[in-house]
Amino acid sequence: MLKIEHLTKKYGDKIAVDDLNLTVEDGQICAFIGHNGAGKTTTLKAIAGIMGFDNGKISINDIDIQHEPMKAKMQLAYLPDNPDLYEHLKGIEYLNFIADVFGLSVEERKKNIEEFANRLEIYKDLTEPISSYSHGMKQKIALVSALIHKPKLLLLDEPFVGLDPISSHQFKMILQELADNGATIFYSTHVLDVAEKICSHVAIIKQGKLIVHDTMENVKGMSSLEDIFLELENEEHN
Ligand code: ATP
Repeated sequence: MLKIEHLTKKYGDKIAVDDLNLTVEDGQICAFIGHNGAGKTTTLKAIAGIMGFDNGKISINDIDIQHEPMKAKMQLAYLPDNPDLYEHLKGIEYLNFIADVFGLSVEERKKNIEEFANRLEIYKDLTEPISSYSHGMKQKIALVSALIHKPKLLLLDEPFVGLDPISSHQFKMILQELADNGATIFYSTHVLDVAEKICSHVAIIKQGKLIVHDTMENVKGMSSLEDIFLELENEEHN
């Protein structure tokens, strides 16, 4: 479970995230949506423990990210929107490095790498250097590295960008399976039709403030998520 209480983050005088409260329970897939600059990446980085914040508390399965960062980070995987990979490494070397970080046994890493790399159709490329990968292939290896320790909390910034339709479909199924097994999934996206299909919940952030958080069903009603989002955005401009 992810619990955010009164999260506030400023860059200088600018408030990027403003007193944000949000809980995502085990087994939920929650889409985090908002216009460019709304505060999504800032929030995700704060949860992942890679960006400090000015006020508030974030806990992952009751572990405080500020007080016990190592313990909290072992529970999660964070995939940034533009992941930095060690490009001089071969795919398999990179995945083994990540598996070492999380202390995975040889059997466990082999099983998880085979499963996720095959499903995302990158397995045969693992012996090649990452520098030779296309944009989509880099996204796939980053996704495999995020899944490799089957995290209890998966934090993803625009995870579908660059994926071909088959891998995108597989990744949606993987997310659903992880959630069915009790993982908590919180991801930012601008692809509202995908979010509408796979997310149990949706959180909408606007100028750093959380303006909506509910089940997908309650938020969109008989409309589409896109229509609801556009309505909320327009309310501000009127
Ligand atoms: P996008 O959808 O474009 O990725 P976002 O919702 O992820 O946007 P953030 O990257 O969290 O938005 O940015 C929130 C606000 O904080 C924006 O106004 C942005 O200009 C500002 N901001 C982000 N990073 C910095 C930084 N390093 N220094 C100063 N301001 C920043």
